[in-house]
Amino acid sequence: MHATPILEEADRLMTVCNSCRYCEGLCAVFPAMEMRCSFSDGDLNYLANLCHACGACYTDCQFSPPHEFNVNVPKILAIARADSWAAYAWPRAFAGLFARNGLAISIICALSVAVFVFGFAALTDRQVLVGVHTGPGAFYALMPHNVMAALFGIAFLYAIIALAMGMRAFWRDIGEPVGMLIEPASLWQAMKDAGKLRYLDGGGVGCVNEDERPTDHRKIYHHLTFYGFLLCFAATSVATLYHYLLAREAPYPWWDLPVVLGTLGGIGLLIGPAGLLAEKFRRDPALVDEKRSGMDVAFIVMLFLTSLTGLALLLWRDTAAMGPLLALHLGVVFALFITLPYGKFVHGLYRYAALVRYARERRMMGHT
Ligand code: SF4
Ligand code: SF4
Repeated sequence: MHATPILEEADRLMTVCNSCRYCEGLCAVFPAMEMRCSFSDGDLNYLANLCHACGACYTDCQFSPPHEFNVNVPKILAIARADSWAAYAWPRAFAGLFARNGLAISIICALSVAVFVFGFAALTDRQVLVGVHTGPGAFYALMPHNVMAALFGIAFLYAIIALAMGMRAFWRDIGEPVGMLIEPASLWQAMKDAGKLRYLDGGGVGCVNEDERPTDHRKIYHHLTFYGFLLCFAATSVATLYHYLLAREAPYPWWDLPVVLGTLGGIGLLIGPAGLLAEKFRRDPALVDEKRSGMDVAFIVMLFLTSLTGLALLLWRDTAAMGPLLALHLGVVFALFITLPYGKFVHGLYRYAALVRYARERRMMGHT
């Protein structure tokens, strides 16, 4: 007996697939499945998070609907995956944020932006808010650096703790010792697989869309989004080092490292999410967990808005628009930070952890 009807269905499908094994070359899910004769809840959650949702095993399956076996691995694993994220949420009281995620993120984002805009207006006089401020320290005319650092430091720390607690729950659920997480060879292999999105290619042909013609578009847009996010994170980290180690205050000139990294990352975070959104509407509806579509869209839109407001601030930072744009950008980034543990962002962490386990299992079986 499994904890939910979806896990029951996932067990049924994995049992059918384990007899068939036609798809074993498509991705990591099928070889991992073949290492097991029966499936616990944790095994199924592990397989669900290992799946990259390329859709190939649905298109290739001779038992997919209308066949009476009704095999639809991508959809059932997508539902099980999203269910598992809610089950691992910390604190538990916030697990419900995964259910109506699109609505929850929209409300939190709107509130966060409103608080920053009205907060700036209340704490500074109008001349400061719409005034022109240039040169080092210009941003801090609207909000002292220490207040900004404390606010975002707390939000970031909260997100890190909540994500780490979620990861701990996942690790316990799949029944692995914590020590395994620090095995360098498995960590490195998983990093390479995640960095290349090795299993988002349907066995080499690409992701399947509504017209059943596989393409690499999702993989390319995902790369732009992921590496764009990393570059923006690097820009913020370098700026923090500049501030505390070199006593150099933002904003920096356009040729300086934080601005170059942030601009390149921002461009990736505009094109990548826009492309992912477009690809989302081209997906075969049979593969999609419709109830969680809002969660995907909310995260994509949040990344896009983070980049859009950041680049707008860069372009118009020497004008009177700087104050309102800074409030808008900080509001969006703050909302992004505090909602990271309760939305689509978590897929990256759990999938990476599943890849670490898979790498270890492969090595134990004598594969590279
Ligand atoms: S998805 Fe279909 S074709 Fe692929 S292994 Fe499972 S039953 Fe076989
Ligand atoms: S959808 Fe793609 S990644 Fe997921 S199980 Fe099927 S082939 Fe593997």
